[in-house]
Amino acid sequence: MQVSTVNTIQKTKVAIIGAGFGGLAMAIRLLQKNIQDFVILEKAQDVGGTWRENQYPGAACDVQSHMYSLSFAPKTDWSKRYAEASEIYSYIQQVTEQFQLRQYCKFEHEVTRAEYDEQRFLWTLSFKDHAPLEAQFVIFASGPLHVPQIPHIQGIENFKGKVFHSSEWDHQYDLTDKTVASIGTGGSAIQYIPEIAKHVKQLYVFQRTAAWVIPRDERKYSDLSKFLFKQSNVYRQLHRARLYWSNESRVVPIVQPQIMKIGQKLAEAFIRFQVKDKKIAQKLIPDYVMGCKRILISNKYFPTFNRKNVELVTDHIQHLTENSIVTKDGKKRKIDCLIYGTGFITDPRIYMKHFDCIGVNKQELKQVWKNVPESYYGISTKGFPNLFQLVGPNTALGHNSIIFMIESQVNYILQLIELVDKTKTLATEVKADIQDQFNNKIQKQLKGTVWQSGGCVSWYQTADGKNFSLWPTYTWKYWLETRKVDASDYVFLGENRSKGKKSVAA
Ligand SMILES: Cc1cc2nc3c(=O)[nH]c(=O)nc-3n(C[C@H](O)[C@H](O)[C@H](O)COP(=O)(O)OP(=O)(O)OC[C@H]3O[C@@H](n4cnc5c(N)ncnc54)[C@H](O)[C@@H]3O)c2cc1C
Repeated sequence: MQVSTVNTIQKTKVAIIGAGFGGLAMAIRLLQKNIQDFVILEKAQDVGGTWRENQYPGAACDVQSHMYSLSFAPKTDWSKRYAEASEIYSYIQQVTEQFQLRQYCKFEHEVTRAEYDEQRFLWTLSFKDHAPLEAQFVIFASGPLHVPQIPHIQGIENFKGKVFHSSEWDHQYDLTDKTVASIGTGGSAIQYIPEIAKHVKQLYVFQRTAAWVIPRDERKYSDLSKFLFKQSNVYRQLHRARLYWSNESRVVPIVQPQIMKIGQKLAEAFIRFQVKDKKIAQKLIPDYVMGCKRILISNKYFPTFNRKNVELVTDHIQHLTENSIVTKDGKKRKIDCLIYGTGFITDPRIYMKHFDCIGVNKQELKQVWKNVPESYYGISTKGFPNLFQLVGPNTALGHNSIIFMIESQVNYILQLIELVDKTKTLATEVKADIQDQFNNKIQKQLKGTVWQSGGCVSWYQTADGKNFSLWPTYTWKYWLETRKVDASDYVFLGENRSKGKKSVAA
């Protein structure tokens, strides 16, 4: 562990918050640049982020395995085209061991506050149960989707049955022969619904908005493919490149919703083909343009509604009693268990993950982002020197691998750290006009995309319809634009008087 302790205040050059894909990628690249003076602060007891938390039945990735992995830590023996959560979790563990990252991790260290000291050009991070930590650079790798969204249902306090959220699945609770209500039809729900339907006595699927679900490539990699991936880096990279460019081609219908509507006809046919009852099929067809919300992939979801023990309920939930769920039409359904498949809080402020972040002039990031979060390439935010983020505003994706974006961001952050060191300054901050121009450009690019004009309410947007989460175009453009930091976009602050000293000046 590289943290030094002086008068109980610990100090480090770089503090990474979060040990998911982002935090670990950042750590590996720091090590490759010979920067060892960093810590990874993780509130849980292990690495893994999303893939540690989401272990519900059927949990899997909707990006191809060879794309949803780090380019500098390839895995040649992915079992199938789209990996299950457990295999991704194992991969993350394996990468952690391979790069010996555990020694840099401080588990059970939930950051509760981050405050910038303008005089000393340092961040102080506070924790629930530990002494504070000072860091020259802070990197938010705390994840875009993390805090469960729990809808308030009238009478929930009276309900005596079992209740849990998909990301907090209680594996001790046996669902066999239980009567279960599942709320939501998002990414997680469409994965666990077909799995639990096989075991439960009765499953009620409560749908507010239908989801566009298209076929999933379930093919396994043959032993020969795995052998070739292992033997030939070129072969593996060609495979990855093919996946990358086929994913990139999906931008075309995103920016031209007319083209998306052709694909939508096929997706509608897929529903009608898979669901026997025409009325149920009709209820499962969304009323917005495909792509407006994340397009999901499954071959198992729709056929679940052919089962006798599964009912699709589209009436609104009114309240819960001690053993039943009651809909607005007055119908009462007895249940043993209620599962929230309701996703995660994506309120703009949740980019903060429930902690206060105080920058220059004591301004709070939560307040700055009150209406809409904005930053520069999702990485740097004006008024918050030396604070960098992974998967920040407008850098999530609807069409390709987020790992590609994370790697571009990590590369950019490394350059910023190097620039501060090279210029013998102590901090850097993006110029306000540069950030504003960037955001105007992004919002212009978003106009006309399926996300803005598709007629849905999605977590990508604020209540007034501003898309704060998605990168509006090809990811290669993001890579190109962030490949090299333009130092003139930034101001450099302070003077580093220490000679050859690796730790931050106190
Ligand atoms: C159920 C689910 C399914 C998904 N499926 C896909 C998919 O199929 N394809 C896809 O591209 N993306 C998917 N995603 C998005 C996924 O989050 C990203 O792909 C990716 O895992 C993000 O990595 P990350 O490191 O940025 O964040 P995370 O994996 O969320 O890791 C963040 C880490 O930060 C820690 N942390 C948070 N706050 C604090 C704090 N205050 N102090 C200390 N530690 C903190 C968390 O405990 C966590 O370990 C999915 C997300 C979820 C929730």
